[in-house]
Amino acid sequence: MTAPHPDPSQLAFEIARRRTFAIISHPDAGKTTITEKLLLYGGAIQEAGSVTAKEGRAHTKSDWMSIEQQRGISISSSALTFEYSGRHINLLDTPGHQDFSEDTYRTLTAADSALMVLDAARGVQSQTEKLFAVCRNRGIPILTFVNKMDRPALEPFDLLSQVENSLSITAVPLTWPIGDGPDFKGVYDLQTGQVLTFDRTAGGKHRAPVHTAGLGDPQLDALVGADLAAKLRADVELIQAAMPEFEPGAFLTGELTPVFFGSAMNNFGVEHFLANFVDLAPPPGPTLTNLGERPPEAGFAGFIFKLQANMSKHHRDRTAFMRVMSGHFERGMDVTHTRTGRKLRLSQAHTLFAQDREKVEEAYPGDIVGLVNPGVFQIGDVVSVDPKVQLPSFPRFTPETFAAISLRDVGKRKAFMKGLTQLAEEGVVQVFYPTDGARDPYLGAVGPLQFEVFQARLREEYGVDVELHVTSYGLVRWLAGDPSSVARFARHVEDDQGRPVMLFRSRYDLDYTAEQHPEIEFLPLPRDL
Ligand code: GDP
Repeated sequence: MTAPHPDPSQLAFEIARRRTFAIISHPDAGKTTITEKLLLYGGAIQEAGSVTAKEGRAHTKSDWMSIEQQRGISISSSALTFEYSGRHINLLDTPGHQDFSEDTYRTLTAADSALMVLDAARGVQSQTEKLFAVCRNRGIPILTFVNKMDRPALEPFDLLSQVENSLSITAVPLTWPIGDGPDFKGVYDLQTGQVLTFDRTAGGKHRAPVHTAGLGDPQLDALVGADLAAKLRADVELIQAAMPEFEPGAFLTGELTPVFFGSAMNNFGVEHFLANFVDLAPPPGPTLTNLGERPPEAGFAGFIFKLQANMSKHHRDRTAFMRVMSGHFERGMDVTHTRTGRKLRLSQAHTLFAQDREKVEEAYPGDIVGLVNPGVFQIGDVVSVDPKVQLPSFPRFTPETFAAISLRDVGKRKAFMKGLTQLAEEGVVQVFYPTDGARDPYLGAVGPLQFEVFQARLREEYGVDVELHVTSYGLVRWLAGDPSSVARFARHVEDDQGRPVMLFRSRYDLDYTAEQHPEIEFLPLPRDL
């Protein structure tokens, strides 16, 4: 039996208090550390595990896969949930490494806002720019946290102009750092006029105590020292005279980013950020579908933005990450899988808090639910009480690097094919099959680290060892045009859906072939995506 539907006012209340966001950053800027501290302040965990001390201490909750722990990078996204100040917050963890941009890109489709984390000494870095561009494309609001202020940092005014110049977004500070490196004393809240200074707690494990004073308060000199107090007063004067004001409208359309400063490792400024975030960041809005914009108050619909097999050793099954886009989700509800028209009962629904799994009985727009995937779900699929609603398109990246793969133990062919299919379905790699059927498939990836993940997961999760050989291919194109011309032309390779593709060694090869065959179109992505 399912629970009674909430009345419209309860649905509206639950939507209004949802905040679903993702963190984007260049590797090492501090995304994992901030995630951990946000959970600490959200009361989801009591003690933050340190990512620096990889040995002998708790690993962070969001870095759960063993390969991630070995390499110290976040590979696959998990979804974390906590409550803060009456808000229900869903934090989507995204891989920072550039080889995982496709996964990140998809995860960002499920977020209503993003937090951009910058390293105070490095400012905007290459991966920040790429991920920022994805958020910009989607028009979602972006908040900025300048991390590692406890280390020697760029001059804050220079950092803000760097953000403005390289990302073409107006950067408006809402807090201002007092000192940097060993002299970092805290931040000044430009909106309330309060200075927040912090005591460093041992290893940044616990919530840091905060002291406050006003800018004119003589106590300030005692708290931060006369020199820093004088610099702060001068900086604030300059900000008030020369910087644009914070405009919520421009923030919501992605033209302006509010900037906060702090040091996640030492708990400086993280809670203050969180308190501002819940007020600034928007609740779930409408989703663009084939039937137009679907408001979050409409009947239940959710879309799949990520697939992941074998999330934990205890649950060797496939999980689909679903974002609720509208209405009230209840476990056990009957829906339509709208791409196939199949009726489904969503009885296996659980949380995605790393390895822990708890049943999800109900969920609201913005929430992320893990559904056990019986093999029907593809990325971009919709499940809904409304059988016609679908997403217009879902982002995919074109692979840029290719490996030939061969199986060491031919007796493992069945397990190999299963792993290959499931990992390709998740988007770990793309698979291309030679059409003569005789040789082993090619793998395509955006970056070579994906191959290593593929190989490691195939070994760990499917017990299959494979050899990967680097190829000289560097480009793939899907073939389109008059079907008989394509059939005559394509003798080479096809993708996992049987669509004809061709691999090229260089752009020159591609251009030459295209010139010789004007009857064929060479597309960077299949036309139906
Ligand atoms: P990610 O790759 O963006 O997830 O970055 P991590 O959170 O793993 O942090 C990378 C490194 O920077 C780790 O060694 C952290 O301990 C360290 N780190 C994170 N935040 C701070 C900070 O505020 N100050 C300092 N000094 N180090 C930090």
